[in-house]
Amino acid sequence: MARFATEVAFDRRSASPYRLLPFRFSKLDSQRYVASNLVGEYLVLYRSVIEDLTRHRLTPQTDVYKDLASKHFLIDADSDVAADLLALKMRTRTERLAEFTGLHLFVVTLRCEHSCPYCQVSRQNIDTDLTFDMSEDTANKAIDLVFRSPAQHLKIEFQGGEPLLNFPLIRHIVVRAKAINEASHQRDLQFVIATNLAPLTDDILAFCKEHDVVISTSLDGPRDLHNRNRPRPGRDSYERAVDGIARVRSALGHDRVSALMTTTKESLSRPRDIVDEYVRQGFDSIFLRPLSPYGFAVKTKSYAAYDVDAWLAFYKEGLDHILELNRNGVRIAESYASIILSKMLTPFNSGYVDLASPAGIGIGALLYNYDGGVYASDEARMLAEMRDETFRLGNVHTDSYDELILSDSLLDPIEESMTVSAPMCSDCAFEPYCGAEPVFHHATQGDFLGRKPTSTFCHRNMALFRHLIQLMEGDREVRHLFRSWAAKG
Ligand code: SF4
Repeated sequence: MARFATEVAFDRRSASPYRLLPFRFSKLDSQRYVASNLVGEYLVLYRSVIEDLTRHRLTPQTDVYKDLASKHFLIDADSDVAADLLALKMRTRTERLAEFTGLHLFVVTLRCEHSCPYCQVSRQNIDTDLTFDMSEDTANKAIDLVFRSPAQHLKIEFQGGEPLLNFPLIRHIVVRAKAINEASHQRDLQFVIATNLAPLTDDILAFCKEHDVVISTSLDGPRDLHNRNRPRPGRDSYERAVDGIARVRSALGHDRVSALMTTTKESLSRPRDIVDEYVRQGFDSIFLRPLSPYGFAVKTKSYAAYDVDAWLAFYKEGLDHILELNRNGVRIAESYASIILSKMLTPFNSGYVDLASPAGIGIGALLYNYDGGVYASDEARMLAEMRDETFRLGNVHTDSYDELILSDSLLDPIEESMTVSAPMCSDCAFEPYCGAEPVFHHATQGDFLGRKPTSTFCHRNMALFRHLIQLMEGDREVRHLFRSWAAKG
């Protein structure tokens, strides 16, 4: 009959100078592993080191022991100080949860004069009636909900369609929200308009200057690519965007306008041109974004036009080019890398909603649609455009703040998608940098949690985490540059 060994045989700690703290490890390449701890500090280790560590064979005099101790993978057997420090870092990292719902998205109209095939919103024609504009009454109810959020820092972002086509309502919301804030709340209140800049006027700029409103626009690359991606009457989307950027800078200041790009099939062969266009336009960051599986992008088959590996090749070439520019003294960072690097290299967590667990839906952002519908995120609204109302939390006219925030439509996906307990994620060394994304997984796999071995979200992000670590490990100069990017993330 088989016998168990005695208790002492299992208790390696009794003879060991150290105790292990929780950590996970995943393969980096054929020889090395990435080990990460609860707060996202990581080390690249050979397999033999991981074996020595877990079998308590390391000795305190070695460099690797000191590295592991300083990064909280092990603690000296006779000390609890490091455990307290780890707890403090954990607290700093999860601090954002207290800043509940800082971002409030107002869809003031679905009308738009562009007809971008990848658009994630079912935009309405510019000359249709105003059925797809938000009313003042709806906006007022939404403003009341904004101030029910406990966050000290509140940002109201206007979206569309093209929000400037309903500028009178933007004007109303800004003035009213500021008045309510000054009278009763004294929060840090900011406003952003996400616009293609085509309908920009001097009056709009004067208002933005008076009320400290910032602008976020779209720039997909050089003229030919941008105009091809973003058709509008006159085929002058690029000219209007670039002219608008210059006017915003001259009226409001250089850093009061930022830009976002979307990668289409036509963009894939041109990452360098796209980056160069951002440099030419004076931006110090670029967000190399893939397409999302929602709205028009699916209807027009734009989303299916390329796969994750094609996008990864595009991203890596773009990143290489950006690093080359940095080495030559040009200041530009890639935004997605900056967000990930801040999680890898600093104790902070930017709270970027697509890379958050618990998921950023509701917690990070709420969206008020033109008709009063309240959604858990921008993507949730896009999904609703495809007649999937899974993430609709209620309506500003019929539901209270508590009913919206405590609705099953919000709590179920958050609870079911936590990465710390998800199969595969719970063993993944990249989990501290990753996110839950229940809307994406519901849209692509019909499941809040998602099946990670076949998830394109997992495939894309895991490849990026590995790539960023490999770049840092292979080149001290890159590591130095990435530290400066992390500060922006
Ligand atoms: S989604 Fe993939 S990369 Fe992200 S934590 Fe889960 S297993 Fe790791």
